[in-house]
Amino acid sequence: MSHEFEARVFDLDGTLVRLDVDWDAAVSDVLAVYENAGVDVDPDRGLWDLVETAGRHAIREDVEAVLSEREIAGAEESERLPLADEVDSTRDPIGVCSLNCEAAVEAALEKHGLARYVNTIVARDSIHEQKPEPEPLLEILERMGATPVSTVFIGDSDSDEQAAHRAGIPFQWVEDRLDSRR
Ligand SMILES: [Mg+2]
Repeated sequence: MSHEFEARVFDLDGTLVRLDVDWDAAVSDVLAVYENAGVDVDPDRGLWDLVETAGRHAIREDVEAVLSEREIAGAEESERLPLADEVDSTRDPIGVCSLNCEAAVEAALEKHGLARYVNTIVARDSIHEQKPEPEPLLEILERMGATPVSTVFIGDSDSDEQAAHRAGIPFQWVEDRLDSRR
């Protein structure tokens, strides 16, 4: 089963590890940046929407600063999930495509001894577009020198599935992946 594809790309949070981030506190931090800048925003928009919208108000850097601090702290306290065993037991090319910031992805992989098995990371600050857009996945394939048909993307969210579909990459849910390995 593990050699069905030449390259494997994993989502990070909820797939390989569980970041220990207080997401409500992160939203509060981000909303405080908006407030300090005097920008009115609907507080119920959701974190990732608030991050994306920040660019239009020239507060993206400040938003990234408060958010990445929370994510890095959460990465350092993260829990390793069962699928991580697939990463450190293969020599196949492994990529991680995440909506989290690059430093948090690196910190989480480092903490669980996975960093040296991961060839390529595309994170929130690696590229302008984010999942569920297909660009982050297409970018990581290009960096890995892989093609959509030879790659599988494994994730835990609808956004992951959509991104894979749009990029033309076979997708597998975490649970199905674990089942196929049993
Ligand atoms: Mg996830």
